[in-house]
Amino acid sequence: MNDVNNIKSIVIVGGGSAGWMTASALAKVIGCDNCQITLVESEDIGTVSVGEATIPQIQLFNTILDIDESEFIRFTNATFKLGIEFIDWKEKGHRYFHPFGNYGTNMEALPFHHFWLKMQDEPAFSNLSNFSLASVGAYANKFMHPSTQQNSPLAGINYAYHFDATLYAKFLRNYSTSRGVSRIEGKVDEVMLNPVSGMIESLILNDNTVLNGDLFIDCSGFKGLLIEQALKTGYEDWTHLLPCNKAIAMPCLSKKTLNPYTQSTAQSVGWTWRIPLQNRVGNGYVYSSEFMSDDKAHALLFNKLESDPLADINQLQWVTGMRKKSWNKNCIAIGLSAGFVEPLESTGLHLIQSAIAKLMTLFPSKDFAQCDIDLFNQQTETEYHRIRDFIILHYKLTNRDDSEFWRYCKNIDMPDSLKQKIAMFSENGRIFRHDNELFNETSWLAVMHGQGIKPKSYHPLVDRLNPDEIKRRLKNIESVISRSADVMPDHEAYILKNYTPNDTF
Ligand code: FAD
Repeated sequence: MNDVNNIKSIVIVGGGSAGWMTASALAKVIGCDNCQITLVESEDIGTVSVGEATIPQIQLFNTILDIDESEFIRFTNATFKLGIEFIDWKEKGHRYFHPFGNYGTNMEALPFHHFWLKMQDEPAFSNLSNFSLASVGAYANKFMHPSTQQNSPLAGINYAYHFDATLYAKFLRNYSTSRGVSRIEGKVDEVMLNPVSGMIESLILNDNTVLNGDLFIDCSGFKGLLIEQALKTGYEDWTHLLPCNKAIAMPCLSKKTLNPYTQSTAQSVGWTWRIPLQNRVGNGYVYSSEFMSDDKAHALLFNKLESDPLADINQLQWVTGMRKKSWNKNCIAIGLSAGFVEPLESTGLHLIQSAIAKLMTLFPSKDFAQCDIDLFNQQTETEYHRIRDFIILHYKLTNRDDSEFWRYCKNIDMPDSLKQKIAMFSENGRIFRHDNELFNETSWLAVMHGQGIKPKSYHPLVDRLNPDEIKRRLKNIESVISRSADVMPDHEAYILKNYTPNDTF
Protein backbone atom coordinates (compact mmCIF):
# COMPACT_ATOMS: atom_id res chain seq x y z
CA MET A 1 0.00 0.00 0.00
CA ASN A 2 1.28 3.44 -0.86
CA ASP A 3 1.18 5.37 2.37
CA VAL A 4 3.17 8.36 1.19
CA ASN A 5 0.21 10.60 1.92
CA ASN A 6 -0.30 9.35 5.44
CA ILE A 7 0.35 11.64 8.38
CA LYS A 8 3.75 10.61 9.78
CA SER A 9 4.25 13.20 12.44
CA ILE A 10 1.85 14.83 14.91
CA VAL A 11 2.88 17.66 17.21
CA ILE A 12 0.71 18.52 20.21
CA VAL A 13 1.30 21.86 21.93
CA GLY A 14 0.25 21.78 25.58
CA GLY A 15 0.28 19.30 28.43
CA GLY A 16 -2.95 20.10 30.26
CA SER A 17 -5.89 17.69 30.26
CA ALA A 18 -6.49 18.39 26.57
CA GLY A 19 -2.92 17.68 25.50
CA TRP A 20 -2.56 14.46 27.45
CA MET A 21 -6.04 13.16 26.65
CA THR A 22 -5.28 13.73 22.96
CA ALA A 23 -1.82 12.17 23.19
CA SER A 24 -3.21 9.11 24.99
CA ALA A 25 -5.97 8.54 22.47
CA LEU A 26 -3.62 8.96 19.51
CA ALA A 27 -1.07 6.61 21.07
CA LYS A 28 -3.76 4.02 21.69
CA VAL A 29 -5.66 4.26 18.41
CA ILE A 30 -2.99 5.22 15.87
CA GLY A 31 0.09 4.01 17.73
CA CYS A 32 3.57 5.45 17.62
CA ASP A 33 5.12 2.85 15.26
CA ASN A 34 4.10 4.49 12.01
CA CYS A 35 3.51 7.99 13.21
CA GLN A 36 5.68 10.05 15.50
CA ILE A 37 3.67 11.76 18.25
CA THR A 38 5.37 14.58 20.13
CA LEU A 39 3.94 16.71 22.93
CA VAL A 40 5.61 19.94 23.99
CA GLU A 41 4.64 21.57 27.26
CA SER A 42 6.06 24.24 29.50
CA GLU A 43 6.13 23.85 33.26
CA ASP A 44 6.88 27.58 33.50
CA ILE A 45 3.56 28.38 31.86
CA GLY A 46 1.64 25.66 33.71
CA THR A 47 -1.93 24.44 33.20
CA VAL A 48 -5.31 25.73 34.38
CA SER A 49 -5.31 22.88 36.95
CA VAL A 50 -9.09 22.80 37.28
CA GLY A 51 -11.65 20.47 35.72
CA GLU A 52 -12.52 18.15 38.55
CA ALA A 53 -16.13 17.25 37.86
CA THR A 54 -17.10 15.11 34.89
CA ILE A 55 -20.10 13.59 33.15
CA PRO A 56 -20.64 9.86 32.53
CA GLN A 57 -19.16 9.89 29.01
CA ILE A 58 -15.66 10.02 30.54
CA GLN A 59 -16.08 6.33 31.40
CA LEU A 60 -16.16 5.57 27.68
CA PHE A 61 -12.96 7.53 27.11
CA ASN A 62 -11.15 5.63 29.85
CA THR A 63 -12.53 2.34 28.59
CA ILE A 64 -11.28 2.97 25.05
CA LEU A 65 -7.84 3.54 26.54
CA ASP A 66 -8.20 0.25 28.51
CA ILE A 67 -7.61 2.15 31.72
CA ASP A 68 -8.18 0.10 34.84
CA GLU A 69 -10.85 1.96 36.80
CA SER A 70 -9.45 1.06 40.23
CA GLU A 71 -5.98 2.23 39.29
CA PHE A 72 -7.40 5.47 37.88
CA ILE A 73 -9.56 6.13 40.98
CA ARG A 74 -6.66 5.55 43.36
CA PHE A 75 -4.20 7.64 41.33
CA THR A 76 -6.48 10.65 40.90
CA ASN A 77 -8.16 10.57 44.36
CA ALA A 78 -11.44 10.19 42.53
CA THR A 79 -14.91 9.88 43.99
CA PHE A 80 -18.16 9.01 42.24
CA LYS A 81 -20.68 11.52 40.93
CA LEU A 82 -24.39 10.86 40.41
CA GLY A 83 -25.33 14.40 39.39
CA ILE A 84 -25.30 18.03 40.45
CA GLU A 85 -27.28 19.76 43.16
CA PHE A 86 -28.30 23.32 42.28
CA ILE A 87 -28.87 25.50 45.32
CA ASP A 88 -30.46 28.98 45.28
CA TRP A 89 -30.64 29.06 41.46
CA LYS A 90 -34.39 29.36 40.96
CA GLU A 91 -34.67 31.49 44.08
CA LYS A 92 -32.94 31.70 47.45
CA GLY A 93 -33.75 28.71 49.64
CA HIS A 94 -34.69 26.46 46.71
CA ARG A 95 -32.69 23.44 45.58
CA TYR A 96 -33.01 20.82 42.88
CA PHE A 97 -31.00 17.90 41.55
CA HIS A 98 -29.80 17.27 38.01
CA PRO A 99 -29.26 13.49 38.01
CA PHE A 100 -27.52 11.12 35.63
CA GLY A 101 -29.73 8.22 34.51
CA ASN A 102 -33.47 8.32 33.91
CA TYR A 103 -36.60 9.45 35.65
CA GLY A 104 -39.02 6.57 36.13
CA THR A 105 -39.63 4.39 33.17
CA ASN A 106 -41.39 5.05 29.88
CA MET A 107 -44.98 3.79 29.75
CA GLU A 108 -47.40 3.18 26.90
CA ALA A 109 -44.65 4.28 24.48
CA LEU A 110 -44.58 7.73 26.08
CA PRO A 111 -41.82 9.35 28.12
CA PHE A 112 -42.37 8.86 31.85
CA HIS A 113 -42.42 12.55 32.70
CA HIS A 114 -45.71 13.17 30.86
CA PHE A 115 -47.48 10.87 33.34
CA TRP A 116 -45.74 12.63 36.19
CA LEU A 117 -46.74 16.04 34.80
CA LYS A 118 -50.38 14.99 34.94
CA MET A 119 -50.05 14.07 38.62
CA GLN A 120 -47.52 16.64 39.81
CA ASP A 121 -50.06 18.66 41.79
CA GLU A 122 -50.95 15.65 43.94
CA PRO A 123 -48.83 16.10 47.10
CA ALA A 124 -47.89 12.40 47.06
CA PHE A 125 -46.18 12.78 43.68
CA SER A 126 -44.95 16.37 43.69
CA ASN A 127 -41.25 15.59 44.15
CA LEU A 128 -39.81 14.71 40.74
CA SER A 129 -36.51 13.62 42.34
CA ASN A 130 -38.29 10.68 44.02
CA PHE A 131 -38.52 9.11 40.55
CA SER A 132 -34.78 9.19 39.92
CA LEU A 133 -32.57 6.57 41.55
CA ALA A 134 -29.52 8.80 41.09
CA SER A 135 -31.22 11.65 42.98
CA VAL A 136 -32.53 9.50 45.83
CA GLY A 137 -29.22 7.60 46.09
CA ALA A 138 -27.18 10.80 45.96
CA TYR A 139 -29.16 12.55 48.68
CA ALA A 140 -28.70 9.49 50.89
CA ASN A 141 -24.94 9.59 50.08
CA LYS A 142 -25.12 6.16 48.52
CA PHE A 143 -23.21 4.72 45.59
CA MET A 144 -22.59 1.42 43.86
CA HIS A 145 -21.61 0.35 40.37
CA PRO A 146 -24.49 -0.66 38.11
CA SER A 147 -25.85 -4.08 38.91
CA THR A 148 -25.16 -6.74 36.31
CA GLN A 149 -28.72 -8.04 36.77
CA GLN A 150 -30.37 -6.60 33.68
CA ASN A 151 -33.88 -6.31 35.13
CA SER A 152 -32.79 -4.61 38.34
CA PRO A 153 -33.31 -0.81 38.66
CA LEU A 154 -29.74 -0.82 39.99
CA ALA A 155 -28.57 -1.81 36.50
CA GLY A 156 -29.52 1.70 35.35
CA ILE A 157 -27.06 3.52 37.61
CA ASN A 158 -25.11 5.98 35.52
CA TYR A 159 -22.16 7.75 37.05
CA ALA A 160 -19.19 10.02 36.48
CA TYR A 161 -16.24 11.03 38.68
CA HIS A 162 -14.82 13.90 40.63
CA PHE A 163 -11.04 13.76 40.42
CA ASP A 164 -7.83 15.74 40.69
CA ALA A 165 -7.39 17.16 37.19
CA THR A 166 -3.65 17.62 37.59
CA LEU A 167 -3.26 13.99 38.62
CA TYR A 168 -5.44 12.88 35.70
CA ALA A 169 -3.12 14.71 33.28
CA LYS A 170 -0.14 13.06 35.02
CA PHE A 171 -1.81 9.66 34.79
CA LEU A 172 -2.35 10.14 31.06
CA ARG A 173 1.16 11.47 30.63
CA ASN A 174 2.54 8.21 32.06
CA TYR A 175 0.11 6.31 29.85
CA SER A 176 1.19 8.17 26.70
CA THR A 177 4.91 8.22 27.22
CA SER A 178 4.94 4.50 28.05
CA ARG A 179 3.30 3.94 24.64
CA GLY A 180 5.89 5.91 22.72
CA VAL A 181 4.73 9.56 22.83
CA SER A 182 7.77 11.88 23.06
CA ARG A 183 7.47 14.62 25.63
CA ILE A 184 9.48 17.79 25.28
CA GLU A 185 9.76 20.33 28.05
CA GLY A 186 10.05 23.70 26.38
CA LYS A 187 8.32 26.87 25.32
CA VAL A 188 7.08 27.39 21.78
CA ASP A 189 8.43 30.80 20.77
CA GLU A 190 7.61 30.90 17.07
CA VAL A 191 5.21 29.21 14.67
CA MET A 192 6.51 28.95 11.10
CA LEU A 193 3.88 29.00 8.34
CA ASN A 194 4.27 27.95 4.72
CA PRO A 195 4.18 31.25 2.79
CA VAL A 196 2.03 29.77 0.02
CA SER A 197 -0.41 27.39 1.71
CA GLY A 198 -0.48 29.07 5.12
CA MET A 199 -0.10 25.61 6.72
CA ILE A 200 1.98 25.26 9.87
CA GLU A 201 5.39 23.82 8.96
CA SER A 202 7.28 23.89 12.22
CA LEU A 203 7.52 25.26 15.74
CA ILE A 204 10.61 26.88 17.16
CA LEU A 205 11.22 26.38 20.86
CA ASN A 206 12.99 28.70 23.30
CA ASP A 207 16.18 26.61 23.03
CA ASN A 208 16.00 26.88 19.19
CA THR A 209 14.83 23.30 18.75
CA VAL A 210 12.77 23.03 15.56
CA LEU A 211 9.73 20.74 15.63
CA ASN A 212 8.44 19.77 12.20
CA GLY A 213 5.08 18.08 11.78
CA ASP A 214 2.33 17.12 9.35
CA LEU A 215 -0.53 17.70 11.78
CA PHE A 216 -0.48 20.15 14.70
CA ILE A 217 -2.86 19.91 17.64
CA ASP A 218 -3.29 23.12 19.59
CA CYS A 219 -3.86 22.29 23.25
CA SER A 220 -2.19 25.47 24.47
CA GLY A 221 -5.16 26.68 26.51
CA PHE A 222 -7.16 29.91 26.27
CA LYS A 223 -4.57 31.78 24.22
CA GLY A 224 -4.78 29.38 21.24
CA LEU A 225 -1.11 29.70 20.35
CA LEU A 226 -1.42 28.01 16.96
CA ILE A 227 -5.09 28.34 16.02
CA GLU A 228 -5.38 32.02 16.91
CA GLN A 229 -2.01 33.65 17.44
CA ALA A 230 -0.49 32.02 14.34
CA LEU A 231 -3.49 31.25 12.11
CA LYS A 232 -5.76 34.17 13.13
CA THR A 233 -8.84 31.98 12.99
CA GLY A 234 -11.19 34.29 14.90
CA TYR A 235 -13.44 33.81 17.91
CA GLU A 236 -17.20 33.99 18.50
CA ASP A 237 -17.75 35.90 21.75
CA TRP A 238 -20.80 34.91 23.87
CA THR A 239 -20.18 37.18 26.85
CA HIS A 240 -23.54 38.91 26.26
CA LEU A 241 -25.26 35.51 26.70
CA LEU A 242 -23.20 34.21 29.60
CA PRO A 243 -21.60 37.09 31.52
CA CYS A 244 -19.38 35.10 33.93
CA ASN A 245 -15.79 35.43 32.79
CA LYS A 246 -13.65 34.77 35.85
CA ALA A 247 -13.15 32.08 38.43
CA ILE A 248 -11.07 31.42 41.49
CA ALA A 249 -10.35 27.96 42.82
CA MET A 250 -9.11 26.95 46.25
CA PRO A 251 -9.01 23.43 47.73
CA CYS A 252 -9.48 22.67 51.43
CA LEU A 253 -9.86 19.63 53.67
CA SER A 254 -13.32 18.15 53.91
CA LYS A 255 -15.33 18.58 57.07
CA LYS A 256 -18.42 16.89 55.69
CA THR A 257 -19.68 13.56 54.40
CA LEU A 258 -18.31 12.46 51.06
CA ASN A 259 -21.23 13.41 48.79
CA PRO A 260 -21.53 11.51 45.49
CA TYR A 261 -22.50 14.73 43.75
CA THR A 262 -21.25 18.20 42.86
CA GLN A 263 -22.87 21.20 44.51
CA SER A 264 -23.42 24.45 42.69
CA THR A 265 -24.71 27.34 44.78
CA ALA A 266 -25.86 30.55 43.13
CA GLN A 267 -24.43 33.68 44.73
CA SER A 268 -25.47 37.32 44.31
CA VAL A 269 -23.09 37.25 41.32
CA GLY A 270 -22.37 33.88 39.67
CA TRP A 271 -22.02 30.69 41.67
CA THR A 272 -19.69 28.60 43.81
CA TRP A 273 -18.82 24.94 43.36
CA ARG A 274 -18.05 22.22 45.88
CA ILE A 275 -16.45 19.05 44.53
CA PRO A 276 -15.54 16.35 47.06
CA LEU A 277 -12.45 14.25 46.29
CA GLN A 278 -11.05 11.47 48.48
CA ASN A 279 -8.40 13.65 50.11
CA ARG A 280 -9.82 17.18 49.83
CA VAL A 281 -12.65 19.35 48.54
CA GLY A 282 -12.35 21.44 45.40
CA ASN A 283 -13.97 24.84 45.87
CA GLY A 284 -14.40 27.54 43.29
CA TYR A 285 -16.27 30.71 42.54
CA VAL A 286 -17.33 31.63 39.00
CA TYR A 287 -18.27 35.32 38.63
CA SER A 288 -18.49 38.21 36.24
CA SER A 289 -15.93 40.99 36.39
CA GLU A 290 -18.68 43.38 35.25
CA PHE A 291 -20.56 42.81 38.49
CA MET A 292 -17.95 41.79 41.09
CA SER A 293 -14.40 42.83 41.96
CA ASP A 294 -11.67 40.23 42.43
CA ASP A 295 -11.20 41.27 46.06
CA LYS A 296 -14.85 40.72 46.88
CA ALA A 297 -14.82 37.40 45.03
CA HIS A 298 -11.81 36.21 47.02
CA ALA A 299 -13.46 37.20 50.28
CA LEU A 300 -16.71 35.46 49.31
CA LEU A 301 -15.02 32.16 48.49
CA PHE A 302 -12.71 32.35 51.48
CA ASN A 303 -15.66 32.82 53.83
CA LYS A 304 -17.38 29.76 52.40
CA LEU A 305 -14.46 27.35 52.90
CA GLU A 306 -15.21 24.62 55.41
CA SER A 307 -11.54 24.53 56.56
CA ASP A 308 -8.22 26.28 55.92
CA PRO A 309 -7.15 26.44 52.25
CA LEU A 310 -4.66 23.83 51.10
CA ALA A 311 -3.15 25.92 48.28
CA ASP A 312 -2.88 29.47 47.02
CA ILE A 313 -5.80 30.89 45.14
CA ASN A 314 -5.90 29.91 41.45
CA GLN A 315 -7.26 32.86 39.43
CA LEU A 316 -8.64 32.23 35.95
CA GLN A 317 -10.15 34.43 33.28
CA TRP A 318 -11.71 33.69 29.89
CA VAL A 319 -13.88 34.94 27.09
CA THR A 320 -16.94 32.70 26.80
CA GLY A 321 -17.37 31.48 23.26
CA MET A 322 -15.74 29.36 20.63
CA ARG A 323 -13.15 29.53 17.89
CA LYS A 324 -14.77 30.24 14.50
CA LYS A 325 -13.12 27.06 13.24
CA SER A 326 -11.62 24.45 15.55
CA TRP A 327 -9.88 22.87 12.57
CA ASN A 328 -8.04 25.33 10.35
CA LYS A 329 -5.56 24.09 7.69
CA ASN A 330 -3.34 21.48 9.37
CA CYS A 331 -4.13 22.62 12.90
CA ILE A 332 -6.86 21.34 15.20
CA ALA A 333 -7.68 23.15 18.44
CA ILE A 334 -8.71 20.86 21.28
CA GLY A 335 -9.57 21.98 24.82
CA LEU A 336 -9.63 25.59 25.96
CA SER A 337 -7.93 26.72 22.74
CA ALA A 338 -11.14 25.70 20.90
CA GLY A 339 -13.47 27.61 23.18
CA PHE A 340 -14.97 27.65 26.63
CA VAL A 341 -18.40 27.67 28.17
CA GLU A 342 -18.31 28.05 31.95
CA PRO A 343 -18.06 24.83 33.98
CA LEU A 344 -21.61 24.82 35.41
CA GLU A 345 -22.43 21.43 33.89
CA SER A 346 -18.88 20.00 33.82
CA THR A 347 -18.61 19.95 30.03
CA GLY A 348 -14.94 20.95 29.49
CA LEU A 349 -13.35 17.51 29.53
CA HIS A 350 -16.24 16.10 27.54
CA LEU A 351 -15.67 18.61 24.75
CA ILE A 352 -12.06 17.44 24.60
CA GLN A 353 -13.17 13.82 24.41
CA SER A 354 -15.70 14.65 21.73
CA ALA A 355 -13.14 16.56 19.62
CA ILE A 356 -10.79 13.57 19.85
CA ALA A 357 -13.57 11.23 18.73
CA LYS A 358 -14.29 13.45 15.72
CA LEU A 359 -10.59 13.64 14.90
CA MET A 360 -10.37 9.85 14.87
CA THR A 361 -13.41 9.57 12.61
CA LEU A 362 -12.17 12.22 10.21
CA PHE A 363 -8.46 11.54 10.60
CA PRO A 364 -6.78 13.31 7.67
CA SER A 365 -4.12 12.41 5.16
CA LYS A 366 -1.57 15.01 4.12
CA ASP A 367 -4.16 16.23 1.57
CA PHE A 368 -6.36 17.63 4.35
CA ALA A 369 -9.65 17.23 2.49
CA GLN A 370 -11.69 20.38 3.00
CA CYS A 371 -14.97 18.43 3.23
CA ASP A 372 -13.63 16.57 6.31
CA ILE A 373 -12.50 19.81 7.90
CA ASP A 374 -15.88 21.44 7.22
CA LEU A 375 -17.78 18.56 8.78
CA PHE A 376 -15.57 18.62 11.86
CA ASN A 377 -16.17 22.35 12.28
CA GLN A 378 -19.88 22.09 11.63
CA GLN A 379 -20.34 19.32 14.22
CA THR A 380 -18.21 21.18 16.74
CA GLU A 381 -20.23 24.34 16.29
CA THR A 382 -23.53 22.54 16.82
CA GLU A 383 -22.21 20.85 19.92
CA TYR A 384 -20.96 24.08 21.50
CA HIS A 385 -24.19 25.91 20.63
CA ARG A 386 -26.37 23.27 22.27
CA ILE A 387 -24.24 23.21 25.42
CA ARG A 388 -24.26 27.01 25.52
CA ASP A 389 -28.08 26.98 25.36
CA PHE A 390 -28.31 24.49 28.20
CA ILE A 391 -26.09 26.66 30.40
CA ILE A 392 -28.03 29.85 29.57
CA LEU A 393 -31.20 28.06 30.74
CA HIS A 394 -29.91 28.04 34.34
CA TYR A 395 -29.39 31.81 34.36
CA LYS A 396 -32.32 32.95 32.30
CA LEU A 397 -35.05 31.06 34.14
CA THR A 398 -34.54 32.51 37.55
CA ASN A 399 -36.87 34.32 39.91
CA ARG A 400 -33.90 36.01 41.53
CA ASP A 401 -33.75 39.75 41.23
CA ASP A 402 -31.69 40.48 44.32
CA SER A 403 -28.73 41.88 42.36
CA GLU A 404 -27.83 43.69 39.16
CA PHE A 405 -26.30 40.44 37.97
CA TRP A 406 -29.52 38.41 38.23
CA ARG A 407 -31.58 41.21 36.71
CA TYR A 408 -29.16 41.17 33.77
CA CYS A 409 -29.50 37.39 33.45
CA LYS A 410 -33.30 37.50 33.44
CA ASN A 411 -33.11 39.83 30.48
CA ILE A 412 -30.65 37.81 28.40
CA ASP A 413 -31.88 37.64 24.82
CA MET A 414 -31.97 33.87 24.32
CA PRO A 415 -30.87 32.19 21.08
CA ASP A 416 -33.88 30.98 19.02
CA SER A 417 -32.84 27.35 19.56
CA LEU A 418 -33.31 27.77 23.32
CA LYS A 419 -36.53 29.74 22.94
CA GLN A 420 -37.95 26.81 21.00
CA LYS A 421 -36.96 24.27 23.68
CA ILE A 422 -38.56 26.35 26.40
CA ALA A 423 -41.72 26.98 24.37
CA MET A 424 -42.19 23.27 23.61
CA PHE A 425 -41.78 22.27 27.25
CA SER A 426 -43.95 25.11 28.55
CA GLU A 427 -46.86 24.10 26.34
CA ASN A 428 -47.05 20.31 26.51
CA GLY A 429 -44.00 19.21 28.45
CA ARG A 430 -42.29 18.09 25.26
CA ILE A 431 -38.52 17.71 25.19
CA PHE A 432 -36.67 17.05 21.98
CA ARG A 433 -33.03 16.21 21.63
CA HIS A 434 -31.63 17.87 18.50
CA ASP A 435 -28.60 16.88 16.42
CA ASN A 436 -27.49 14.21 18.86
CA GLU A 437 -26.88 16.95 21.41
CA LEU A 438 -24.98 16.15 24.60
CA PHE A 439 -27.71 16.79 27.16
CA ASN A 440 -30.55 14.32 27.04
CA GLU A 441 -34.21 14.50 28.03
CA THR A 442 -33.43 13.82 31.70
CA SER A 443 -31.07 16.78 31.84
CA TRP A 444 -33.44 19.21 30.14
CA LEU A 445 -36.33 18.04 32.32
CA ALA A 446 -34.30 18.34 35.53
CA VAL A 447 -33.20 21.89 34.80
CA MET A 448 -36.37 23.23 33.16
CA HIS A 449 -38.49 21.87 36.02
CA GLY A 450 -35.83 22.81 38.59
CA GLN A 451 -35.71 26.38 37.36
CA GLY A 452 -39.45 26.62 37.68
CA ILE A 453 -41.17 25.99 34.34
CA LYS A 454 -44.55 24.38 34.87
CA PRO A 455 -45.92 23.11 31.55
CA LYS A 456 -49.52 24.08 30.78
CA SER A 457 -50.27 20.50 29.86
CA TYR A 458 -48.77 17.11 29.03
CA HIS A 459 -48.85 14.69 26.13
CA PRO A 460 -52.57 14.20 25.31
CA LEU A 461 -52.14 10.44 24.92
CA VAL A 462 -51.45 10.18 28.65
CA ASP A 463 -55.22 10.47 29.15
CA ARG A 464 -55.67 7.07 27.55
CA LEU A 465 -54.60 5.63 30.89
CA ASN A 466 -57.01 5.71 33.81
CA PRO A 467 -55.79 8.23 36.48
CA ASP A 468 -55.94 5.61 39.21
CA GLU A 469 -53.77 3.34 37.14
CA ILE A 470 -51.26 6.16 36.60
CA LYS A 471 -51.16 6.80 40.34
CA ARG A 472 -50.70 3.11 41.04
CA ARG A 473 -47.77 2.94 38.64
CA LEU A 474 -46.16 6.12 39.94
CA LYS A 475 -46.42 4.83 43.50
CA ASN A 476 -44.88 1.57 42.43
CA ILE A 477 -41.96 3.27 40.65
CA GLU A 478 -41.32 5.52 43.63
CA SER A 479 -41.29 2.59 45.99
CA VAL A 480 -38.98 0.49 43.79
CA ILE A 481 -36.55 3.41 43.61
CA SER A 482 -36.67 3.97 47.35
CA ARG A 483 -36.02 0.28 48.07
CA SER A 484 -33.21 0.19 45.50
CA ALA A 485 -31.53 3.21 47.09
CA ASP A 486 -31.81 1.49 50.47
CA VAL A 487 -29.63 -1.39 49.33
CA MET A 488 -26.96 0.87 47.82
CA PRO A 489 -23.87 1.11 50.03
CA ASP A 490 -22.69 4.33 51.60
CA HIS A 491 -20.48 6.21 49.11
CA GLU A 492 -17.67 6.98 51.53
CA ALA A 493 -17.60 3.41 52.87
CA TYR A 494 -17.64 2.07 49.30
CA ILE A 495 -14.56 4.10 48.40
CA LEU A 496 -12.75 3.25 51.63
CA LYS A 497 -13.44 -0.43 51.13
CA ASN A 498 -12.55 -0.63 47.47
CA TYR A 499 -10.09 2.10 46.63
CA THR A 500 -8.14 3.71 49.40
CA PRO A 501 -5.15 2.25 51.12
CA ASN A 502 -5.81 2.41 54.89
CA ASP A 503 -6.48 5.86 56.28
CA THR A 504 -6.27 8.27 53.33
CA PHE A 505 -9.26 10.28 54.54
P1 FAD B 1 -4.42 24.19 29.93
O1 FAD B 1 -4.66 23.40 31.14
O2 FAD B 1 -4.34 25.68 30.08
O3 FAD B 1 -3.09 23.66 29.28
C1 FAD B 1 -2.37 24.42 28.35
C2 FAD B 1 -1.03 23.78 28.13
O4 FAD B 1 -0.37 24.47 27.08
C3 FAD B 1 -0.11 23.81 29.32
O5 FAD B 1 0.58 22.59 29.44
C4 FAD B 1 0.87 24.92 28.98
O6 FAD B 1 2.13 24.73 29.58
C5 FAD B 1 0.97 24.71 27.47
N1 FAD B 1 1.46 25.89 26.75
C6 FAD B 1 0.85 27.08 26.59
N2 FAD B 1 1.64 27.90 25.87
C7 FAD B 1 2.75 27.20 25.56
C8 FAD B 1 3.94 27.51 24.85
N3 FAD B 1 4.15 28.72 24.32
N4 FAD B 1 4.86 26.56 24.74
C9 FAD B 1 4.68 25.32 25.28
N5 FAD B 1 3.58 24.98 25.96
C10 FAD B 1 2.63 25.92 26.10
N6 FAD B 1 -13.94 20.89 32.83
C11 FAD B 1 -14.63 19.83 33.29
O7 FAD B 1 -14.84 18.87 32.55
N7 FAD B 1 -15.11 19.81 34.57
C12 FAD B 1 -14.95 20.85 35.42
O8 FAD B 1 -15.38 20.77 36.57
C13 FAD B 1 -14.27 21.99 34.95
N8 FAD B 1 -14.09 23.05 35.73
C14 FAD B 1 -13.47 24.14 35.23
C15 FAD B 1 -13.36 25.30 36.01
C16 FAD B 1 -12.77 26.44 35.50
C17 FAD B 1 -12.72 27.68 36.32
C18 FAD B 1 -12.21 26.43 34.20
C19 FAD B 1 -11.52 27.63 33.64
C20 FAD B 1 -12.28 25.29 33.43
C21 FAD B 1 -12.92 24.16 33.93
N9 FAD B 1 -13.05 23.02 33.14
C22 FAD B 1 -13.76 21.96 33.62
C23 FAD B 1 -12.44 22.94 31.84
C24 FAD B 1 -11.13 22.14 31.96
O9 FAD B 1 -10.36 22.64 33.02
C25 FAD B 1 -10.35 22.26 30.67
O10 FAD B 1 -11.19 21.89 29.61
C26 FAD B 1 -9.16 21.34 30.70
O11 FAD B 1 -8.39 21.54 31.83
C27 FAD B 1 -8.33 21.50 29.45
O12 FAD B 1 -7.44 22.56 29.54
P2 FAD B 1 -6.35 22.66 28.40
O13 FAD B 1 -5.51 21.45 28.45
O14 FAD B 1 -7.05 23.00 27.14
O15 FAD B 1 -5.54 23.96 28.80
